[in-house]
Amino acid sequence: MDDSPVKFSPGSFQAALRRRVEHHLAPTGAGGFDDPRLYAKAVLILGWFVVSYVLLVFVATSWTAALLLSLSLGFAGAGIGFNLMHDGSHGACSRHPWINRAMALSLELLGGSSYIWKWKHNVVHHTYPNLGGVDDDLEIGPWVRIAPHQPQRAIHRYQQFYMWMLFGLLPFKWYLLDIRNYRRGHVGRQRFPKDDKTERAVFVAGKILLPVWALVIPLTRHSPLIVLLFTFTSLFTIGFVLSVTFLLAHCVEDAQCASLPESRRVASEWAVHQVETAVDFAPRNSLLSWYLGGLNFQIEHHLFPHLSHVHYPKIAPIVREVCNEFGVRYSVSPTFGSAISAHFRWLRLMGRPV
Ligand SMILES: [Zn+2]
Repeated sequence: MDDSPVKFSPGSFQAALRRRVEHHLAPTGAGGFDDPRLYAKAVLILGWFVVSYVLLVFVATSWTAALLLSLSLGFAGAGIGFNLMHDGSHGACSRHPWINRAMALSLELLGGSSYIWKWKHNVVHHTYPNLGGVDDDLEIGPWVRIAPHQPQRAIHRYQQFYMWMLFGLLPFKWYLLDIRNYRRGHVGRQRFPKDDKTERAVFVAGKILLPVWALVIPLTRHSPLIVLLFTFTSLFTIGFVLSVTFLLAHCVEDAQCASLPESRRVASEWAVHQVETAVDFAPRNSLLSWYLGGLNFQIEHHLFPHLSHVHYPKIAPIVREVCNEFGVRYSVSPTFGSAISAHFRWLRLMGRPV
């Protein structure tokens, strides 16, 4: 494993961008932390999750009600992932670290580990997005070819059809691979310390939490078959919504995706790489932007991951303007549907024989 650092080329784009965005944000206060809208949203989404769960486990008596409630629970769970876990893990919710930590810990509820996520997402993915052989988010498994550096297999010709069904398995994958990664002490090529007793206790508690709410409590009220069916539906929905959203921003034709050169030096400046490896989608869909916690403004998120997502729609035109001035490609899919089509085409392109 080559652990020598990956280097980006120098440039003046990032400094110019930062100056312009900071000038715009100055009147609102740095970072916009502890925004009441974020807390209202957190309460609403957590309430949505709890109410869906209580009604599903303790009240629902028909198959139709149980199906609708398990889907509702799944969408609420994904909403927790977008708005509490993701922002909290970036330290973007509050100026108080304990509030960010509490938000980030909501990932344990969904089957993942906030500790592994910090290394996999904040450190590896955010520093080296779409760099083949470095960005661990591209390493989904042998049944999918999502980047040009990966070997092509015959089954990949049909991946644009079957992959959508596998996306839903994300919580199960998190649950199992986190245990493997924690034992190994690295995620992809990134090593991480595993001797912190608090982190270890949180990791173990998190792996107990999911089976308790998803299996043990429902089994006190329902047969194993019913529990397995509706728990699977909820977890699958969480995985599907989260996976598709993250992939729509990076695995499409307009997002650059290339292998790391042998020199381990990227030809572009870090901030230019962040812009050209992501695509915004549906920027004018305010309901979707609210639910996705601003993840449809992926370019702005990658440039300013510590900035509260409530600012992304406002800074997007500034980012675009600076990109135009510096000749940096800034890509947007106008609607959610066009982003889905772009991801379908990317899967088809990657699945073709090379
Ligand atoms: Zn992020």
